[in-house]
Amino acid sequence: MSNANDKTKFNTKARPNWCPGCGNFGIQSALKRALMELNLEPHQVVMSSGIGCSSKIAHWINIYGLHGLHGRTLPIATGIKLANNNLVVIAEGGDGDGYSEGMNHFIQAARRNVDLTYIVHNNGVFSLTTGQTSTTGKKGFVSNTTPFGAIEPPFNPIALAITAGATFVARTFSGDINRLSELIVAAIKHRGFAFIDILQVCVSYNPEKSYKWYKDRVYNIEDKGHAHTNRSSALVFALADNEDRIATGIFYQSERAPYEDLLPQIKKAPLVEHDIKNVEIGNLMAELI
Ligand code: SF4
Repeated sequence: MSNANDKTKFNTKARPNWCPGCGNFGIQSALKRALMELNLEPHQVVMSSGIGCSSKIAHWINIYGLHGLHGRTLPIATGIKLANNNLVVIAEGGDGDGYSEGMNHFIQAARRNVDLTYIVHNNGVFSLTTGQTSTTGKKGFVSNTTPFGAIEPPFNPIALAITAGATFVARTFSGDINRLSELIVAAIKHRGFAFIDILQVCVSYNPEKSYKWYKDRVYNIEDKGHAHTNRSSALVFALADNEDRIATGIFYQSERAPYEDLLPQIKKAPLVEHDIKNVEIGNLMAELI
């Protein structure tokens, strides 16, 4: 076990190979800072990640991690939480991973209100595969897959999360590490499905949306008098987004029993602490062979 005050306890020996200037560095710093702030130890936290530049973060933060399949970070995180609901579970991935490949998992996890934190590095492009338009790519975005410009409007993850049943919905941008760290702390403390959409700078495949581009456009909805318990107001701000003005902050937060609290099987103890010496799985295995 590490020293509680050791500020390096979440560092790994391996160094990230993201492009210089990538917004993922800020997200990684904010996450480590949040875990320190919460006085967590590396063995208490598990991360699942999908596929993409962002998802490699699971290798570069000293907690338990599972780098899974494309679009499947949420079912993996849900499984981890149900196996041991004492753990802090974080699911990470990009917009390509979660809003394109894994969209239905996003909706179902929000609806179920599984107690986990879902962090999406939203850069509007499939970056690891060298630049294809994703669901959050802006209309007219020129990429390998849209050489004449994307003809579809971008998807609105905040509005979807609110209507699907997420009980914590927030957004910030990867250049504001202090705010991001505060939001991650609030998300982890929240009991239920906590979702943070992070506007992430990709300097290589979406350079137009630079740090300056975001700084000139983001605003905080709390400064506009929004109360995060007001779902209707949250939707109004979410739906008002456009390419010139982007709302950030905590859109919505409410209390609802998390999914695992409703499962009688784990009411007394986490699944991993159940006595399995009389459990016979031979028949089940035989069926699978
Ligand atoms: Fe970051 Fe984009 Fe480089 Fe990937 S391609 S590491 S998202 S800057």
